Amino acid sequence: MENKPLVVGNWKATKTIEETIDWVKKAKRGLEEAKKADIVLCAPFTSLPFLVSLFQDTNVKVGAQDVSKFKKGAYTGEVTVEMLDGLVSHCIVGHSERRKYFGETDDNVIEKVKLLLEFKITPILCVSDLNQLNSYIDRGKEIIENYDKIVFVYEPPNAISGGDAYRPDNPEDASKNAGLIGEKLGKKVVMLYGGSINSENVVSFFSKPNIDGGLVGQASTYPDEFVRIFDSIKLIGPK
Ligand code: PEP
Repeated sequence: MENKPLVVGNWKATKTIEETIDWVKKAKRGLEEAKKADIVLCAPFTSLPFLVSLFQDTNVKVGAQDVSKFKKGAYTGEVTVEMLDGLVSHCIVGHSERRKYFGETDDNVIEKVKLLLEFKITPILCVSDLNQLNSYIDRGKEIIENYDKIVFVYEPPNAISGGDAYRPDNPEDASKNAGLIGEKLGKKVVMLYGGSINSENVVSFFSKPNIDGGLVGQASTYPDEFVRIFDSIKLIGPK
């Protein structure tokens, strides 16, 4: 692998403030010693200020899991890009759980990507398949124009652990489909794979072509297991 793999943790809707602090106590040293990967931890909004403070001046970056499609105004309950500005470096957009449970559309996703780019927060854009990428491309030239400012994730919804029709992807298919998405973009992009990555299977995914790292959900919620992923990554040779 020429560049270091990028590992993005996604805590989803887990962790109180107390649990956040406890997780950091258990994982901090192991993550700081993980020199063979870049790390972003995406957490619920309530955890973000704590994570930013606890990981200040370390190699661990902090990201949000979503952002409002509105910039500002009478939108009760929304967290806007201006509120994230200066707090996070990255933000997940278009996660299939947001589509499934909160009715997020492709148009919403593009609006969010545009706002994040405007504020120089790196969008971590989830793409379920080639059709979805085509739909994003049809909706805005931003995706292609800003290919180098976006982290792409090939994430088939069925491969996400705990999902209804849960069926883990295999590394060959993941690499093939990630490659097709990269080809469609026509540029060398950062392309992650997401779906049931853990310390046991991470090497088999990350050592494949077209996969530059991973979006890690469930395994990132356990501090010991998350740190073990970086121990496994040390075993990956050049691609
Ligand atoms: C995710 O949340 O994007 C994800 C890939 O989850 P998991 O690793 O639990 O499958």
